[in-house]
Amino acid sequence: MRVLVINSGSSSLKYQVRDTDTNEVAASGLIDRIGEGGSGPADHGEAMDQVAAVLEGELAARPLDAVGHRVVHGGERFSEPVLINNEITRAIERLNPLAPLHNPANVLGIRAITAKWPDMPQVAVFDTAFHRTLPEHAWRYAVPDALYRQYGIRRYGFHGTSHEFVTGRAAALLDVPLDEFNAVICHLGNGVSLTAIEGGASIDTSMGFTPLEGLVMGTRSGDIDPSILIFLQRQGMSADDIDKLLNRESGLKGLYGDNDMRAIVDAAAAGDARAKLALDIASYRLAKYIGGYHVAVGGAHALVFTAGIGENSADFRALVASRLGALGVKLDGGANLVRSSAPRVVSAPDSAIPVLVVPTDEEQAIAEATAAVVRGA
Ligand code: AMP
Repeated sequence: MRVLVINSGSSSLKYQVRDTDTNEVAASGLIDRIGEGGSGPADHGEAMDQVAAVLEGELAARPLDAVGHRVVHGGERFSEPVLINNEITRAIERLNPLAPLHNPANVLGIRAITAKWPDMPQVAVFDTAFHRTLPEHAWRYAVPDALYRQYGIRRYGFHGTSHEFVTGRAAALLDVPLDEFNAVICHLGNGVSLTAIEGGASIDTSMGFTPLEGLVMGTRSGDIDPSILIFLQRQGMSADDIDKLLNRESGLKGLYGDNDMRAIVDAAAAGDARAKLALDIASYRLAKYIGGYHVAVGGAHALVFTAGIGENSADFRALVASRLGALGVKLDGGANLVRSSAPRVVSAPDSAIPVLVVPTDEEQAIAEATAAVVRGA
């Protein structure tokens, strides 16, 4: 099947045309500065017109069979990809308060396609869906029950499409049946999240009510004492100020001044103390979570690294592994340095837990999920 994968952000639209039989990427691109005036498109409808214009030749030769949308928030309702109709679109729209930057853009992307190609099957693939298997003791926060009932305040988890894809690949690489596979999956990109996998399913994940919770990220703080927010409000900061501070100015950027892992590793190697501290904080926090999730899954069969940093930074993987001696984790120095786009084992033969690098491909996962839904419809 030929699937157009759409990833709409608040002011951007990423797209790929994928052939799910050959896994070929026939076209891809990014439209940005949507709704920002100047030369950018006025809205997501205009952005879709631009995508259609760019793809005209490609689509004339080989038409699309379906469109798959990455939708950030599926709330408690969506536990798997669904064929979109008006009711589904409205249900996604009702979740806007839970993901105010993302879901409105996803809805605009869906409506733009509906307007342009009314008969095109469209599928929504949710970033939260894979984490619908979390047990209640993992998704509840220790706050009054009313906050959950009134506002839906609970852990939802994100990066689910990536965690699910990588879990399947890792189990296959180790030749373990998926429903017997226990693992800790580390998605380390600009956003960072860990998932505890038991029997192939997500039983805990580090992102929570929003993608801000958990590990040190490119520009996000991850876990902090919630009282810091109250303290800052009392110092005169507004909710918007604090939002920006913790989502855009914290994490590696806040600690070092730059969120590019390559720059930080290079600076640390050259003796920069702030870069070294940023790496120590990020790797220490990660090691603590890995230890916790190893316990949560009753002993992981594998520790898996994925996404920009997880796939490419041998230095950061080595730093994390050096903190996991208590778990008997040992990397193979040579294997860890190999650069490859293939899933691979990077641990030593006598490591107590195999360590894997498994490249993620969210567009492939969305295209395959879309094709499966459309075939089953
Ligand atoms: P992602 O969000 O998955 O695209 O990952 C982005 C992050 O991956 C950025 O922090 C980059 O610095 C990091 N990254 C990409 N390539 C490399 C590399 N070769 N070495 C270290 N970090 C990398």
